[in-house]
Amino acid sequence: MSDVTVLVSGASIAGPALAHWLHRHGAEVTVVEQTPGLRPGGQAVDARGVAKEVIGRMGLDTAVRAACTDTAGAYTVDVNGNVLETFRADDHAGDGYIAEIEILRGDLSRVLYDDTRDSVEYVFGDRIAVLTQDADGVDVTFAGGARRRFDLVIGADGLHSALRSMVFGPRERFVRHLGLVLAYYSVPNEFGLDRWLIDYQERGRSAGLRPIRDATRAIAMLSFAASDFAVDHRDVDAQKRLLRERMAGFGWLTQRILAHLDDTPDFYLDQVAQVVMDRWSTGRVGLLGDAAFSASPMSGGGTGLALVGAYLLAGELAASGWDPQAGFAGYEERMRSYVEANQEIGRLHVHSLTGSGPSPEPDMEALTALIECAVGGPDLPPYDLD
Ligand SMILES: Cc1cc2nc3c(=O)[nH]c(=O)nc-3n(C[C@H](O)[C@H](O)[C@H](O)COP(=O)(O)OP(=O)(O)OC[C@H]3O[C@@H](n4cnc5c(N)ncnc54)[C@H](O)[C@@H]3O)c2cc1C
Repeated sequence: MSDVTVLVSGASIAGPALAHWLHRHGAEVTVVEQTPGLRPGGQAVDARGVAKEVIGRMGLDTAVRAACTDTAGAYTVDVNGNVLETFRADDHAGDGYIAEIEILRGDLSRVLYDDTRDSVEYVFGDRIAVLTQDADGVDVTFAGGARRRFDLVIGADGLHSALRSMVFGPRERFVRHLGLVLAYYSVPNEFGLDRWLIDYQERGRSAGLRPIRDATRAIAMLSFAASDFAVDHRDVDAQKRLLRERMAGFGWLTQRILAHLDDTPDFYLDQVAQVVMDRWSTGRVGLLGDAAFSASPMSGGGTGLALVGAYLLAGELAASGWDPQAGFAGYEERMRSYVEANQEIGRLHVHSLTGSGPSPEPDMEALTALIECAVGGPDLPPYDLD
C-alpha cells in the first residue's frame, strides 16, 4: 500500500472504475457523490472493443455480462411500424450499433460500486465546496463541513462537472451543445416489446422503445433538434413540459409513450453535448469521463471512454510514482486520439439525425478508420499492480 490519498468526485461510471484501479495500485481512495445514494436510471450504455478488455482486466466480465440487457438487436420503423432496417447484436463481432455488452447505466454503476465498496471510502450526499491546492497536496472543504487534505483530486462528476467549473473555468468554455436534446424514461411494456429495440425517426425528431431485463417495462427514448436549450438540468417538471411541447404531433407510438411521463419513476433529459478541453489536469487536480471529454450519448462511446480512461489514469499515475505532472501527461497522451475519434462519431451521428453539418455522403474509408480508432482505442500497458 502506498500512502497516496486520492479524492474522486462522482460515483456513476468513471468514479467507481477509477477507484477500482487506484485501489489496486495501492492508493487510499475516497469517492464523494452528491446524491444520497447510488443514482439509478439512465438508458443502456455500451462497452465495445478496448472497453471490454478493461472490464476483463477488472475481473468483472461475469458480473457485467450477467447484468447486460440481452437485447437481440434493433429495428428502424416507419410511422406505421413497418420495419425499414434491422441491426443484430452479433453484427461486427458484438461491437456494432447494438453492442454485445449493453447494460443499463444504473446497473453498470451498481456492479462497479459493489466491486469497490469494501475497499474504498464512499461518502454519499456530500460534495466538494471549496478546494485549494499547493505544491504538496489539495485542501478540500466539503459542503457538509468536513475539511480534509488529499494528494490528488479527480473530477468524475459528469457533463455538468462542478469541479471543472471550480478549477478550470465556466462550463460555457468547454461544453458544446450539438443541437439535439435526448430524453429517456421507463414505461410499462404495453407495446409487446420482446428483446428488440424499435426506433422511429423523422425530420429532426425520433422516438424509440428499448427492451430491458424486466420484460414488464421498457425504456422510452425521445429526441428533438433544438439549437437553444434554456431548461435547468435540475428542473425535471420543466424538462417534461419541454418534451411534451416539442414531441407534440409526432407519429408512431409517441403519444402513448408521452402519456407515461407523469407516472414514470425515472426521467433523464439533457442536451446532447460534448466537453472539449485542451488539457484534463492542472497541478494535482484532474478530470475523467464526461467531466473531461464527454463524447455525448450519440457517440455510443462515453462509457468506454470512462472505463478505459480510468485504467490509464490510475496506471499512469502509479507508474510515475504518483507524480501528478508525469502521470497526468501520460494519461492525456494515451487517451487523446481515442477521445477525438469518439467525439467525431458523436457529431456525425447528430448531423445524420438533424440533417445539419457537412456532406451527407461519407468517405467510407475515413469512416472505417475512425470507427476502428473509436472502438479499438489506445494500447493498454500492462501496469504493475501492488
Ligand atoms: C442519471 C444518469 C443517467 C444517464 N443516462 C445515460 C443514458 O441513458 N445514456 C448515455 O449514453 N449516457 C447516460 N448518462 C451518462 C453516462 O453515464 C456517461 O456518458 C458515461 O458513462 C461516463 O460516466 P461518468 O461517470 O463520467 O459521468 P456521469 O455518468 O454523468 O456521472 C457523474 C456522477 O457525478 C455525480 N455528481 C455530479 N456533480 C457532483 C458533485 N458536485 N459532487 C459529487 N458528485 C457529483 C452525479 O450524481 C453522477 O453520479 C447518464 C448519467 C447519469 C448520471
